[in-house]
Amino acid sequence: MSPQSHSTDMRTNSAAPELHSPPSSLALTRRQWSELENRVEAAYPLEACGLLLGNRHGDCARVARVTEGRNLCGADGRERFELDPVHLLWAYEQAENGGDQILGLWHSHPDRPAKPSVADLHGADAAWSYLILSVNIEGAQAMRSWRIHEGRFMPEQLRVETDADSWPKRSAHSKFRS
Ligand SMILES: [Zn+2]
Repeated sequence: MSPQSHSTDMRTNSAAPELHSPPSSLALTRRQWSELENRVEAAYPLEACGLLLGNRHGDCARVARVTEGRNLCGADGRERFELDPVHLLWAYEQAENGGDQILGLWHSHPDRPAKPSVADLHGADAAWSYLILSVNIEGAQAMRSWRIHEGRFMPEQLRVETDADSWPKRSAHSKFRS
């Protein structure tokens, strides 16, 4: 059996472990999951994009906030996106001032699978998660998270947790160093 199995069809959302996946995970709340779906559906047929802000503990990243930035590709943004650098700058600044860290970037693939394109690899940061949502005229279809591992995208575990009000409040205070 070849270890290079790649049965990553967008319709199969099976939780089967994939060989060589980095041992990392990204946790979202149900509310954040819905928010992302709403945003990509609203932008359809253009690509929507934004950032995932939160905290990373080892290989586990937990999203605290989902933000959306302008896609500077405008009407050309059916198959590409360019996140407004003003949005990125804002995110770096608030992180430097003790706010949530940038965990990664999310964007949509209208009428395409939730798999990274060659363009997505360009300039990708190994420290970030890349969350991709597949969307079509009927709505959001799939959501997958990816990390750069040995120069290519590998899927990471995507976990859906209960909504923020049931989370430990500890994380909200961790930005204030004691
Ligand atoms: Zn893409």
